Amino acid sequence: MPGSEVYVGFDLGGSFLKASSFSLDGELAERRSIDSQWCLRPQDYLDLFKDAAKSLSSDKHLKGIGTAVAGVLDPEAGVIVDSPNLPALSGVPLLEMLKDSFAPIPLQMMNDANAAALGEYFAGAGVEHESMFIITLGTGVGGGFVVDGEIWSGASGMAGEIGHMVIEKNGKPCTCGSRGCLEAYFSGWALERDAKAHAQQYPDSAIGSLDIISPISLSELASSGDDEARTILENGGYALGAGIANIMNLLNPESIVLVGGLVNAKEHFLSFAQMAWEENSFDQASSSSKVFVGKLGEWAGVRGAIQPFLSE
Ligand SMILES: [Zn+2]
Repeated sequence: MPGSEVYVGFDLGGSFLKASSFSLDGELAERRSIDSQWCLRPQDYLDLFKDAAKSLSSDKHLKGIGTAVAGVLDPEAGVIVDSPNLPALSGVPLLEMLKDSFAPIPLQMMNDANAAALGEYFAGAGVEHESMFIITLGTGVGGGFVVDGEIWSGASGMAGEIGHMVIEKNGKPCTCGSRGCLEAYFSGWALERDAKAHAQQYPDSAIGSLDIISPISLSELASSGDDEARTILENGGYALGAGIANIMNLLNPESIVLVGGLVNAKEHFLSFAQMAWEENSFDQASSSSKVFVGKLGEWAGVRGAIQPFLSE
């Protein structure tokens, strides 16, 4: 449709820039996933964004750009305060740089978990619900709370960090420096840690015989019927369920939506998570807070990134 108007959404992670164009009512037009591993300097990222926007809006009028970024953002200043997956952008005022490159096109930026939350709320598993809590299950665990269409950010943008909710006092050490966080029991890195510990102790076991120990290989082994791989995922699921019970009791959202790569292993952990949330929450909370798997998969963040334009 030459001459038509579009929004472009981005979601920048450690390895890929996901980019999509949308009609002005938020319907997906085109999308692509672009390798970003060659980017070493902030300028490389700007070039990447510019090329992607150009290819998605070639003969169309670009009305606005929304971008999600993996990392802790200062939303006021538009600075990436810290991003373990994008070290070249830590401390960089990316929002200003993007605004300068794309002026006068309006630009919005938010962190990737909040973007995924808005995407699922407005166009995925949460569309029918007033309040929704999203849990992102990847290498780490993130979260976001949307109520009446708005992200609940907290006093300094730190709300929703369910991965670092303490579920066991003085428990296992976490990457954040604390102990007993949910993420230290169920996350990509925690599953990998547990599987590697098992392999070290039992080198002749099926887990010990894996070439590469990762959440994916662990899940495949569990699917093939290996009891030890299953146990690791089931224990993780039980810990996740404790975190979900806390969300149900604390916020009682209409929906709790699970997204991220680990969701692919749901057949091994979800029923154990359910056991834990039913045991640990009030019946009235667990019967009214429904748990769903996200509908947009890895594209939720791109859709959520343009939501501020649609909500204007
Ligand atoms: Zn932690």
